Amino acid sequence: METDRYITNWVKGVIVKREIDKYLIDGKDFIDEQDIGKRLIENRNPPSAHIKDILEKSLAIQTLNSDETAALLNVTSQDDWERIFETALVVKKKVYDNRIVFFAPLYCSNLCVNNCAYCGFRIQNRNEIRRLLTLEEIRNETSVVLKEGHKRLILVFGEHYRSDVDYIAAAVKSVYDVTEISSQSGQSSSIRRVNINAAPMEIEKLQILKKSGIGTYQVFQETYHHQTYHSVHPANTIKGDYRWRLYALHRAMDAGIEDVGIGSLFGLYDWRFEAMGLLAHALDLERQFGVGPHTISFPRMTPASGSFLSADSPWRVSDDDFKKLVAVLRLSMPTAGMIVTAREKAEIKKSAILLGCTQTDASTRIGIGAYSDQKKEENLNNKQFSIGDSRNLEEVIQEVVGLGFIPSFCTAGYRCGRTGSTIMGMLSHCDEGKFCKLNAVLTFREYLSDYATALTRTDGEALITKEINEIESMKYFRTKPHLLEKFRNDYREILVGKRDLYV
Ligand code: SAM
Ligand code: SF4
Repeated sequence: METDRYITNWVKGVIVKREIDKYLIDGKDFIDEQDIGKRLIENRNPPSAHIKDILEKSLAIQTLNSDETAALLNVTSQDDWERIFETALVVKKKVYDNRIVFFAPLYCSNLCVNNCAYCGFRIQNRNEIRRLLTLEEIRNETSVVLKEGHKRLILVFGEHYRSDVDYIAAAVKSVYDVTEISSQSGQSSSIRRVNINAAPMEIEKLQILKKSGIGTYQVFQETYHHQTYHSVHPANTIKGDYRWRLYALHRAMDAGIEDVGIGSLFGLYDWRFEAMGLLAHALDLERQFGVGPHTISFPRMTPASGSFLSADSPWRVSDDDFKKLVAVLRLSMPTAGMIVTAREKAEIKKSAILLGCTQTDASTRIGIGAYSDQKKEENLNNKQFSIGDSRNLEEVIQEVVGLGFIPSFCTAGYRCGRTGSTIMGMLSHCDEGKFCKLNAVLTFREYLSDYATALTRTDGEALITKEINEIESMKYFRTKPHLLEKFRNDYREILVGKRDLYV
């Protein structure tokens, strides 16, 4: 009972109202539902000529406004959709080239004080087997992931006093501390970028998080629709406060975390409305901080332990609509990274990549402690939801290479100051994609030498040869011979055993 009282008091102290109010405009938040509804109605039946103009704007790497986004969401003609799908990939390649960044999730704890109707971790799910990994267990989990060849992790946490910011910061440090030696090449490797998906926090705590050396900080709004939000997040919980969550990433920016990831859980409400909500979120970050989100996530709800809603929502998004959603988000916010995860089946992930996603996970296990113990993955009561793609890293890499994309483990951006407005500016001028292409080649070369089997190495090396030829002939690099020289030199050094070199 003492603990119950402690938790109740802790919960009461989490939300700092002035850190919501400072971002409001005339007491209002940036989700104007009437306006979103109006734009969705006014932009019905958009003529093809108008769609073509909008696509031209995306091709010029400009963020679309809400009318333009609403028009895309309202397209009914199949021909227009085909044009949208094709353009989405062209835009992605213009900004990010043909690389796909890989990461793995690491679920550290399923302790949670909230009661979100769709989530297996919610407090009232008595079936869930609760666990918080020790720092040693986190190191063990990291070792397993490293042995597959990963260089980026996203750490995921429920909201609980035991997984507060100090635990998260210690978890981040534990991950960075691990070094593994590749049995294939004898080269050592460690995780080079740790991203975080954790509950909203006050600015002071976010500063601690920033100091721990995180890359991106993600908080998903789940649904931007106020009434739906309140119906799935009980009022007496921390998460029941819509605005505390809505401004989580504004606070992160204020705390100096420049790379933030927005997201919405698709299946709770109308997908078109949520897409407009994501755009409004991106635009408000841009307006208040001069830089939009680093990434956008659009998880589709999957069945979770003890959650009726997760399996049976009236708002579930069909595969066809999901593809439309991905393409529209790509075109609406051309410079944002887009993440498709193992919630989706392999074939859907593949479609999402062909529609402009930039990042995906692989070898995903979301059970608490499941990298070290596969049995923990098999029990739904040990995890947050069910996944659709459990392929290992090499399997996904083979597919991606087959599609002509270059797998990337690059983490150079945030380590050499290409974050926030710097990277977003470079992306909008289509410069960052070129840098990243060089780093994709370098990090993929490392992967092929250290972790790939013979077949993947053969296919991967053929792709690298093609990429290098392309790089050598690019006008951009001919005007920057020092870059090209560094790249050539780094590549040679990697072949003889140097690691972690980047441009
Ligand atoms: N507790 C933190 C919070 O709420 O911000 C971390 C979130 S949770 C561990 C990561 C994300 O998983 C959630 O923000 C939500 O979008 C998503 N999620 C929750 N339940 C899900 C389900 N049944 N299917 C798919 N995604 C789900
Ligand atoms: Fe807790 Fe996050 Fe799950 Fe809600 S979504 S119950 S806050 S872990």
